[in-house]
Amino acid sequence: MRNIALLLSVAVGLPVMAAPPKVITTTEDLAALVREVGGDKVTVESLAKGYQDPHFVEPKPSFIIKLHDADLLVVIGRELEIGWLPPLLTQSRNAKIQVGSPGYLDASMGVRILEIPTGQITRAMGDVHPSGNPHYWLDPDNGRIIAKAIAAALARVSPNDRAYFDQRYADFDRRLTDAQKRWAAVMAPYKGTKVVTYHRSWPNFTERFGLDVIGYVEPKPGIPPSPSHTIQLIAEMKRQNVKLILVEPYFDLKTPESIAREVGGKVLVLTPSVGGVKEAGNYVALFDYNVNLLTSTLKQLTGK
Ligand SMILES: [Zn+2]
Repeated sequence: MRNIALLLSVAVGLPVMAAPPKVITTTEDLAALVREVGGDKVTVESLAKGYQDPHFVEPKPSFIIKLHDADLLVVIGRELEIGWLPPLLTQSRNAKIQVGSPGYLDASMGVRILEIPTGQITRAMGDVHPSGNPHYWLDPDNGRIIAKAIAAALARVSPNDRAYFDQRYADFDRRLTDAQKRWAAVMAPYKGTKVVTYHRSWPNFTERFGLDVIGYVEPKPGIPPSPSHTIQLIAEMKRQNVKLILVEPYFDLKTPESIAREVGGKVLVLTPSVGGVKEAGNYVALFDYNVNLLTSTLKQLTGK
């Protein structure tokens, strides 16, 4: 289609408009950051939806077509997509976006990565990510670094729009900085609050906002709750007087709710990704949504 349009415009002497670069991201968070920086000079689509567990995305034939047509692919990396992306990337037969090509951006380069394992990794450790925790986008400081890397990658595929991308990045940086001051202020009274999370999705988030994770509903990353682990966790929560359990939207609430009943606590479903709920429609709104939920719940629980 694009070629026909090009031929026609050349034939009738119209100026040839270059089609905006097509960006594909693996997650909605990355797509949201591409939108911040790329504005109306790019088109962007995420393969995973914000309400899906990004570790386990069902590969669809339509993904291969989207990847085939892409000018830039942005991934989370750190093995987050290892269970579903590599075969799709091969089948896309798109040399522009293969690992190492200018059209491939691993957003984890340059960000602060937590939980990089030391020593040998064994099956017994569960689904441990050998190059560190891949849920790093949940620290706004990392979001800023990702946005900057996206601006540079977009300038590579669309050099004429470099100044536009730089200006959009600067604007995003300003808005994010203002929002971070707001979040830090409302979270300050709860600094050091101990919480439990379902999966290890929140180390960057909790570190940034001053919460202390003392345990997980999963006995090991990616391993479903077991009765013996749940009993230990309840005992530990009682010992340390921990009342709050943070759960991602795609996990069964049965075990977290039974734990909350035992400890007289509360389950809070936070959304780890843009698009997980409709209020979290962009990167700043994602934190607004989670920080609002957290502070209103912590206010109830602590009376602060
Ligand atoms: Zn994970």
